[in-house]
Amino acid sequence: MPITPIIERCRARLEDIEFGSVREWKARHPGGRAVGCFPVYTPVEIIHAAGMLPVGLFGGGNTIELANADARFQSFVCSIAKSTLEMGFQGRLKLLDGVIFSSICDVARNLSSVMARNFPELHVDYIHHAQNMTSPSAVDYVESEFGRIQRSMERLAGHPVSPGALAASLKTYNQIREILRTLYRIRRESPHLISTVELYILARAGTLVDPEDHLRELREVMDLLPARQGRPKDRVRVVIESAFCEQPPLDLLQVVEDAGCYIVDDDLLTGWRWYVEDVPEDPPPLRALAESYIRRSVYSSVRHDGPRSRNLGLVEKVRRANAQAVIFMPAKFCEPALFDYPLFRVALEQANIPHLVIEFEEKMWTFERTRNELETFVESMLFD
Ligand code: SF4
Repeated sequence: MPITPIIERCRARLEDIEFGSVREWKARHPGGRAVGCFPVYTPVEIIHAAGMLPVGLFGGGNTIELANADARFQSFVCSIAKSTLEMGFQGRLKLLDGVIFSSICDVARNLSSVMARNFPELHVDYIHHAQNMTSPSAVDYVESEFGRIQRSMERLAGHPVSPGALAASLKTYNQIREILRTLYRIRRESPHLISTVELYILARAGTLVDPEDHLRELREVMDLLPARQGRPKDRVRVVIESAFCEQPPLDLLQVVEDAGCYIVDDDLLTGWRWYVEDVPEDPPPLRALAESYIRRSVYSSVRHDGPRSRNLGLVEKVRRANAQAVIFMPAKFCEPALFDYPLFRVALEQANIPHLVIEFEEKMWTFERTRNELETFVESMLFD
C-alpha cells in the first residue's frame, strides 16, 4: 500500500472542524476526557498518563468567521488567539473537558483568562514555564510546576497518576518523537521522498488521536517509505522559521514547495517535537520531563535560554540541513516571532544566508502575491 492514502486519511482528520477523531476516541472510552493543548509546549505525557486524550488546539484555521472574539481582543492580536476563542463561542470546543495554555506570550496569557471567564464549565490550566533556564533551581522549579499540572490533571481525570503510567507515556511519546526525528532526517537528506506538506499533515494529525494510534500510523509510513521512488529536482533548499505557534495554512506550505523550494527543516508544531533526544527513563518520570524541558529541547522564540543563542541555533540549523536560504513565516502580530526577526536577520546576514519574509494569517485565501515573491526569490537563488 502506498503512503498517499495514509496522508489523505490524516488530512481529512485535521481538516475535520468537528474534531471527529476526538469524538471517536470518546465513544471508545466512555467517560474519557479530552484536554486541548494550546501551542507551543505542553507536557502531554501527563495528560495521557491520566488516561485522558491530549488534543492539539491550533485555532480555527480558515474555517471560522469571527462573530464574538473580536470584541474581546484588540485588533492587533494574532489570529490563533481570536479563532480559538471563537471556537469556544461557537460550541466547537464543547467536546474538550479542559484546555492548557502556557507562558509563551502576553496573548496566550490573556487568552487563558478570557477563556476561563467566558467558559466557566471548562477546566482551564496555565503553565508558568521557567524564565531562567540557567538557574540552579530551574529543574526543581519545572518539576514542581509540572507536578502542579499533574495534580490538576488528576482532579480532572478523577484518579491519581502512577509513576508507572507516566513512565509508559514518556516511552510512547519518545517513540513518536524518535520517528518524527527520523522522518525529518529523511526529508533533510532526500526531500524528494517526502514533502513538507505530507510530513506536516502526518505530524499534525497525530495531535488529534491517541498517541498509540499515531505511533502505529507513523510506523506504517516508515515501513512504506523505502519503496517510494523519486528523483531529486533542481530546487532551492530552505528552512522555515517562526511558524512555531499559529500554523500557516497548508496551501501556503504547498505554494512554497510548488514555487521550487525543498523545505529541509522547519519549526512547525515545534512543541510536539520539543525534545532533541529521548526523555530518559531512569530518573523519576516527572524529574526526567523537567530535566529534558531545561536541557534537551529545541531553541524557541518563546523561551530565553540564557547563553544558548537562538541566532546560533538558526544558523546551525541551516548548516545542518545544508540549506541555501531561510523563509521567515511569522503569524501576523506574533510578537515573539517578530521580536526575534531583527536578531535572526543580522545573524543570517553575517553568515551570508539569504532570507525572505512571508507573514501569514489563518484566513489567507489567495496566495498569488506570495507565489510571485517566492518564484522571484527562487529564481534569484537558482540563477545567481
Ligand atoms: S501566534 Fe505568537 S503572539 Fe499569538 S499566541 Fe502564539 S506566540 Fe503568542
